[in-house]
Amino acid sequence: MKTIFEKSNGIDGINLTNEISDISFIPKSFLRNEIGLPQLGELEVMRHYKGLSDLNFCIEKGFYPLGSCTMKYNPKVNELLSNLEGFNIHPATSDTDAQGCLKLMYNLQNALLEITGMDAITLQPSAGAHGEMTGMMIIKKYFDTLKEKRTKVIIPDSAHGTNPASAKMCGFDIVEIKSNSKGQIDIEALKAVLDDDVAAIMMTNPNTLGIFEEQVEKISELMHANGSLLYYDGANFNAIMGYTNPKLMGFDVVHINLHKTFATPHGGGGPGAGPVAVVEKLKEFLPTPVIDFEQGKYYRNYNLKSSIGSVKDFFGNFSVFVKAYAYILMMGKNLKKASKNAVLNANYLKEKLKKYYDLPYDEPCMHEFVLSGEKQKHDNGVSTINIAKALMDKNTHPPTVYFPLIVHEAIMIEPTESETKEKLDEFIGDMIDIAAQCRNNPQVILDSPHTTPVQKIDEVTAARHPDLKFKS
Ligand SMILES: *Cc1c(COP(=O)(O)O)cnc(C)c1O
Repeated sequence: MKTIFEKSNGIDGINLTNEISDISFIPKSFLRNEIGLPQLGELEVMRHYKGLSDLNFCIEKGFYPLGSCTMKYNPKVNELLSNLEGFNIHPATSDTDAQGCLKLMYNLQNALLEITGMDAITLQPSAGAHGEMTGMMIIKKYFDTLKEKRTKVIIPDSAHGTNPASAKMCGFDIVEIKSNSKGQIDIEALKAVLDDDVAAIMMTNPNTLGIFEEQVEKISELMHANGSLLYYDGANFNAIMGYTNPKLMGFDVVHINLHKTFATPHGGGGPGAGPVAVVEKLKEFLPTPVIDFEQGKYYRNYNLKSSIGSVKDFFGNFSVFVKAYAYILMMGKNLKKASKNAVLNANYLKEKLKKYYDLPYDEPCMHEFVLSGEKQKHDNGVSTINIAKALMDKNTHPPTVYFPLIVHEAIMIEPTESETKEKLDEFIGDMIDIAAQCRNNPQVILDSPHTTPVQKIDEVTAARHPDLKFKS
């Protein structure tokens, strides 16, 4: 027994590391004795990051009724597909070597054109707001080409904040119009501001109250008779897929949020994609490249007569395209069913909750609706922000709050199509429970959340004196 150990040269005898450990070729000035990084084993590192991720809330953990954001289920198979080797191409790959990827983009363009009803499209913009800016640049260049000096863009008071911001960035003046008692655009208010200076109206339909603009055809007629264009903010497309489309409603420029309607994940700032589709007469103004197909080859077409230029480099956010395309193919005709269920689920929640919270616009809703916490604030001294935090104790992500701005103490709820009736009933129960606690024991709600890793924070101090440095 002893000899087998004696005979062994031990680990020193294994002569594998010599070549690697010869570092004499590295200049001395580049060598470090200490690197100042924590010395940790793989297990410790894994546990650290897993622990951090466990602190996060995500759709895998619970309900996420974040109005306007469409936090629908993003099929896991999409991740698998977008990670396929052939899709991980170098940004500088030539068209010849990227035929498969270009084909996917081309097919996605066509699918989105069919769904929106529009005539031409760019996949370039990497977010909804980026799409808005692209669309407004197209509108600006269109009027410049006609040598018409139109300086104003009309935007309803219920609009998402990015709408006026995008129009302003493109040099337009914003004219805000008030919504009527039904939460829709007031036609008289629109007529009152419509003049030769108006380039366009930016509309969201259904709007951010979750209400369908019934007068959209009339609005389109008025705008077009005035020589103006209509921009469609398609962030709420989840409500209408397959039922109608922006072309039929009379819009000229449209953006859609792939990361909302077409099941690609978002949050934390991206990546997203906000393709912009236009009617025939605006086709030549699209940003380049657009993906075209000729003589058996897909290619990036940079040759548009009046293009506004390029708004994104290389292939755009390509992995988002793969996921959206996979979703569209998987759903097929069921896209329509997704919208139907999204609308059904929202109306179900609205009807069940309106006895407990104010509902300022009591209309049939589309895929989302907006409650108000005014009653709780007035009667119990509990604000919408407290109700939102109380929901965190129910393993639910808070809804969108304080938006749209025209609803005081707004609580904007979008269940999406992908939740079960059991989950919706559970949420209804939680909201009723919170309303009861507001009445009976408001302090519990005011002190919420109680169960999250970080409890009530001092938001005022955090906003006024942000501490942005990392401390170990
Ligand atoms: C999300 C949203 C936008 C902006 O989209 P991003 O992709 O976040 O830039 C614009 N309008 C509405 C109504 C939205 O919900």
